[in-house]
Amino acid sequence: MRIAVIGAGIVGVTTAYELAADGHEPTVYERLSAVAGEASFANAGLLAPGCVAPPGAPGMAGRVLRQSFGPHRRLRFGGAELLTRLPWLWRWWRACGPRPYRDNRERLYRLARYSRERLHACAARHGLDYQRSAPVTVLLRGPRELAAAEATLRLLREWEVAHALVDAAHCRRIEPGLHPDTPLQGGIALPDAEAGNCRLFAQQLKAEAEQLGARFCFATEVLDLDAPGARAGRSAVQLRARGVPGLAGSTPSPQERGFDAVVVCTGAAGNRLLRPLGLALPLLPVHGHSVTAPLRDAGEGRLAGPRGAVLDQRHGVTVSRLGQRLRVAGSAGFGRAAAAHDPGALAMLYRVLDDWFPGAARHAQAQAWKGARPMLPDGVPVIGAGARAGVWLNIGHGGSGWALACGSARLLADQIGGRAPELDAAAYAMR
Ligand SMILES: Cc1cc2nc3c(=O)[nH]c(=O)nc-3n(C[C@H](O)[C@H](O)[C@H](O)COP(=O)(O)OP(=O)(O)OC[C@H]3O[C@@H](n4cnc5c(N)ncnc54)[C@H](O)[C@@H]3O)c2cc1C
Repeated sequence: MRIAVIGAGIVGVTTAYELAADGHEPTVYERLSAVAGEASFANAGLLAPGCVAPPGAPGMAGRVLRQSFGPHRRLRFGGAELLTRLPWLWRWWRACGPRPYRDNRERLYRLARYSRERLHACAARHGLDYQRSAPVTVLLRGPRELAAAEATLRLLREWEVAHALVDAAHCRRIEPGLHPDTPLQGGIALPDAEAGNCRLFAQQLKAEAEQLGARFCFATEVLDLDAPGARAGRSAVQLRARGVPGLAGSTPSPQERGFDAVVVCTGAAGNRLLRPLGLALPLLPVHGHSVTAPLRDAGEGRLAGPRGAVLDQRHGVTVSRLGQRLRVAGSAGFGRAAAAHDPGALAMLYRVLDDWFPGAARHAQAQAWKGARPMLPDGVPVIGAGARAGVWLNIGHGGSGWALACGSARLLADQIGGRAPELDAAAYAMR
């Protein structure tokens, strides 16, 4: 089939790869001039199925309020725009109940576990180096974090995820670079979890997809879709696209093309194309920040900083090692100007970095980044048919798109190809 894939973030690239591997002819449309230029650009890099969780959990509403104030605050609301988000917040609040939370977390865990298997198989098959680092350690600063971790520990035991609840001394043996003076109660060691460079993987997988016959049209924005269904002499989906003015290689006049099917992988921007088809989703861009910097030499041929990745549970901040660099990522906010960095959020990242790995990074060469997690209220992506013949969705991967992408793409390709997927597709269907 001739299939248009809209968006070349990690989800669009993995989708194009799987479709091409199945013998389809995917054409990827991306409005930027390269892959992984938006949310997939500089995320924390965590690939830890046991840590993938929905945005809402029991007791979260109270925590959100507490975490919205003070110098270490994790959440930042953007004034009047908050009011327009009330319908999303209402759905999110309902997803915070114990039963929906558990169901959603399990759906995410199963997809993330499957995704990690697919990612490892794909990396081994093509010899891809995505700057993998391991293991992952969740740092619990005090008794409050230890108590809050109990719910996660119960699920890890139930799902038989390799893990150990360890004391502070053990954490420091796993990560010898941790600052000895920062108070630490203990941690959850996740020996099978890892971190990796999402953008680097997307760049390499794009080349593999091209080898299999996928085409990439960069600097090309899809303006609208029409899905009248296949009729004699007409494709199932009509798509109108035009070159983005000012970007090299773009052709600004709109062009129309027909396809047998389209997959929408547009991340947080999804609804602009979906709303006219009556398929709008409650997608909210939840902004976060990261800072990436080269690691300092710690002497004797070693680099400072983490060996793998640590997740500071209290502040929701991850410090991960990516090759010769360190990345610190976290914070959540919505309603603010999309492009502007939030100085308070960046200061919080630097403070947490300084707590755990003081002096490990070359701050003068640090690069700050802000991205938008494409978040649905229950946190579970929509992967499957879009209720219009020929329109498929792979969207809404929230704060875990890198950890979920490879499995999501296979799950979708199986559905398009009419094969029985290895996961229960109904758990990720349009709802
Ligand atoms: C601070 C931060 C930390 C994170 N940490 C992690 C982590 O540790 N682990 C993890 O798994 N995930 C993490 N995430 C989440 C992860 O980055 C996202 O879930 C993932 O990148 C989403 O991928 P995507 O392909 O759906 O969206 P995107 O990467 O945003 O891609 C969508 C693409 O569609 C294009 N597009 C949109 N509309 C159009 C159109 N009309 N025409 C053409 N192109 C279009 C856009 O230009 C964009 O390139 C983090 C996110 C943030 C912000």
